Amino acid sequence: MRKFVIMGVQGSGKGTQAGMLAADLDLVHLSVGDIFRWHVQHHTKIGAQVRRTMAAGAMVDDALVEGVMGDRLAWHDWNYGFILDGFPRTVRQAEFFLESYDIDAVINLEMPDSVVRERVLARRLCSGCGLDWNLLAHRPKVPDVCDICLSALVAREDDNLLALGARLRDYHDKTAPVLALFERKEFVAQFDATQPVNAIQHEIRTRFGLPTLATQSE
Ligand SMILES: [Zn+2]
Repeated sequence: MRKFVIMGVQGSGKGTQAGMLAADLDLVHLSVGDIFRWHVQHHTKIGAQVRRTMAAGAMVDDALVEGVMGDRLAWHDWNYGFILDGFPRTVRQAEFFLESYDIDAVINLEMPDSVVRERVLARRLCSGCGLDWNLLAHRPKVPDVCDICLSALVAREDDNLLALGARLRDYHDKTAPVLALFERKEFVAQFDATQPVNAIQHEIRTRFGLPTLATQSE
């Protein structure tokens, strides 16, 4: 049984790294973001709350995260382990969580705020087909036009400097004490999240003695 918590600011590639580990090692990826996205797509009451909070550039409040994650953890549907993504976010949640579950490690993906800003502000969304673009990494042939459907590319409503600044502040304020708690218990392993995706994944696996990536994409 392998049990990890993954931490990292938005844009650090946390979801990608967690997804790669989960898919290959049969871990259940317990992502707060995915659960909330499901609610937004299915127009639930929780979904409406999440939409309002994100439009304001804030983080979804702790009680909501705690409720949703508590319900999800209660499923106990993992055979080989899990990777927690987006939880715990407060010291109280972390202490509560550690009373019921033991973990192998906290994977902390470190990325300076300046890099996060650069990457997040380069994100675009196609107003036609909904495809994600990035002016740094996945650039369209014609500026601001989707290669696939030729519609205009727009920024997401919450990808502006003000909203991002608020999210970053919120993230650091909230996670610093949680990280400190995990550090006292010697769970935390730091990784440089500015590296390419496969390099980070390789480093994580080397560190924890996990099988190396079977198929290395180019
Ligand atoms: Zn398009």
